[in-house]
Amino acid sequence: MTRAPALREPLERLYRDCDYTTRVARDAMQFPLRYPAAEDRELVALLTACLAYGRVDLFGRAVEIVLAAMGPSPARFVREFDPRRDGPAFAGFRYRFNRPADVAAFCVAARDLLARHGTLEKCFGAGDPEPAGPLGPALDRFARAFLAADLREVFPRGRMSRGYRHLFPLPSAGGPCKRLLLFLRWMVRREPPDFGLWTSVAPARLLVPVDTHVENMSRAIGLTRRRSRTWRMAEEITRRLAVLDPADPVKYDFALCHKRMSGDCRDRRDAAVCAPCGLRAVCRHWRARARTTRR
Ligand code: SF4
Repeated sequence: MTRAPALREPLERLYRDCDYTTRVARDAMQFPLRYPAAEDRELVALLTACLAYGRVDLFGRAVEIVLAAMGPSPARFVREFDPRRDGPAFAGFRYRFNRPADVAAFCVAARDLLARHGTLEKCFGAGDPEPAGPLGPALDRFARAFLAADLREVFPRGRMSRGYRHLFPLPSAGGPCKRLLLFLRWMVRREPPDFGLWTSVAPARLLVPVDTHVENMSRAIGLTRRRSRTWRMAEEITRRLAVLDPADPVKYDFALCHKRMSGDCRDRRDAAVCAPCGLRAVCRHWRARARTTRR
């Protein structure tokens, strides 16, 4: 594992030099960013994050179909959602585990939770009695609120689909919950490219949304040695990054993810690709080479 002081300068440089404008246009966050109104952005952020598995260009097409059906104000569409009247608008939607009924169920659950709480932030807050405590239990309750929704308008036999369940992973099940943690990063972090719309949650409580790119990068620079992507891995990486910035531990997430996603890192020694990399001094692929050379 790399010691925190050695990581500070390379990670700060990565954070500073990231081309956020170009990269945001290729990131899932491009969808919520289209909507200036907070209620639309919040709703579209959750919908996008729930579907954000696989490659952005693939799930992005599916998100586009749903957003086209929702019209200019997705929040208003959801607040007035009637599955019999509006559900057929999702007929063209298909994405891996998910079918039109899953999107209709998302709209029914979001409609009822918004009617009860007013905003998704307040819905999250209702399950977050310890605003200084760990985030996992609160996120678990937030996901359970969607899983416990009365969805008989969409699933008349009372059994929700596997696809709908897949939209809301539970931290208590031990998985990394990357999509829901990504949603929280967007909503809570105050600095661009994130939205900072949820002021009731402190950025210090966020956990890194670990996808395959962040996992590879974290191993490369010695933030974790764990072999499987789990909630514990997210906690471990976050704990180590919190040494560098306790108030904003997930600030490096976007730049780390996009370094790998863009092909600027191949997760192996590559003289041409690695030559301009500011992480080289802390990269295990080059440390191994240095040790071999010294022997
Ligand atoms: S030195 Fe190479 S392998 Fe290591 S992080 Fe940089 S680009 Fe990736």
